[in-house]
Amino acid sequence: MAKTENMGVNTICTHVGEVADEQFKGAISPLYMSSSYAYENVDIKRYPRYFNTPNQEALGKKIAALEHTEAGMIFGSGMAAVSHCLLAFLQKGDHVVLQKTLYGGTYNFVVEEFGKFGIEYTFTNGFAEEDFRNALQDNSKVIYVETPSNPLMLITDLEMITRLAKEHDLVSMIDNTFASPINQNPADFGIDIVIHSATKYMGGHSDICAGAVAASDEHIEQIWNLSKNIGGSLSDYTVWLLERSLKTLALRVKAQNRNAKKMAKWLHKHPLVKKVYYPGLKDHPDYTLAKKQMKGYTGMLSFELIPTVNAETFMQSLQLIKQSMSLAGVESTILSPAKTSHTLLSAEERTHQGISDGLLRFSVGIEEKKDLIADFEHAFEVAAKKEIA
Ligand SMILES: *Cc1c(COP(=O)(O)O)cnc(C)c1O
Repeated sequence: MAKTENMGVNTICTHVGEVADEQFKGAISPLYMSSSYAYENVDIKRYPRYFNTPNQEALGKKIAALEHTEAGMIFGSGMAAVSHCLLAFLQKGDHVVLQKTLYGGTYNFVVEEFGKFGIEYTFTNGFAEEDFRNALQDNSKVIYVETPSNPLMLITDLEMITRLAKEHDLVSMIDNTFASPINQNPADFGIDIVIHSATKYMGGHSDICAGAVAASDEHIEQIWNLSKNIGGSLSDYTVWLLERSLKTLALRVKAQNRNAKKMAKWLHKHPLVKKVYYPGLKDHPDYTLAKKQMKGYTGMLSFELIPTVNAETFMQSLQLIKQSMSLAGVESTILSPAKTSHTLLSAEERTHQGISDGLLRFSVGIEEKKDLIADFEHAFEVAAKKEIA
């Protein structure tokens, strides 16, 4: 096969890593469900928990090609990927610098578990270089970011993170879930370890729970050394299903990017919308940075209703767009961060973070724009009427 660096992204999605069906010459990778492989006269001892079954290996190669790294690994969930990466590079007495506003599960993992391992941590006060510098300690070993952030789509400067990591000899890690490998390749900016919840854009159909990591051979080996002991591998059936999903990753994400940009512009002009948070809009505070390090602005956006429009009524009046906790499926979904991901914060803290009751996070799918607009128009009408009545 040709070198993956020279391949177009859709070709990578469709072909890289595929397992040849030598026996029947079928068009797709055969699914190998075996949990037991011969060990005599073989170099590799294959076993699902060693992350090296034929389907696991195939998918690892595709993810590495998509993220421009040497190697890739698939886990049982996004959190399995996050937790294995952090624990592989941190030990007792070490310190990690974490960006403010991380995915809730990552935040909980750090706050609830790190004490047991004697690992110290500091969350930054903001996204600027100074905020990261202020959080550094002599025993810092890892720097961890997530960009774009949830739900306000704030952007962290990846070149700045790489610079700090090099200066202080840190391993840099990013949760690249919101961007997907189509919109952002952090390894191109020098980030060491790229993590995905494959439950989101990679799976893309709201029917797979999985995680992925892309990094150098050396870093993957260090993660693997821990992973084989903890054992968070993904079943081969789901691995195979994820390979199928990835064939359309670029097509889906590019369609979602286009839709999100159109919807962001439409919402921006709407009289009942106070503010739109989308890094592809020129008035987003991080537009220039997003433009520099992203290839597309994702299918994720948030918008704030004006105070006289009730968010609950608005959401319940939607007929096409579903209320949903998760994101990034081909179907459009919406949620209230104040009522879900950020409900444990005090009202005051939420206000401080810019998460008002009227803020809604919109995961834009692949439906036609006119149908999404019609659904919103109807909901605006009902919610506005109810306020007047
Ligand atoms: C969903 C999500 C995760 C966790 O992934 P799971 O597959 O649910 O374990 C991590 N990071 C981000 C940004 C997510 O959206």
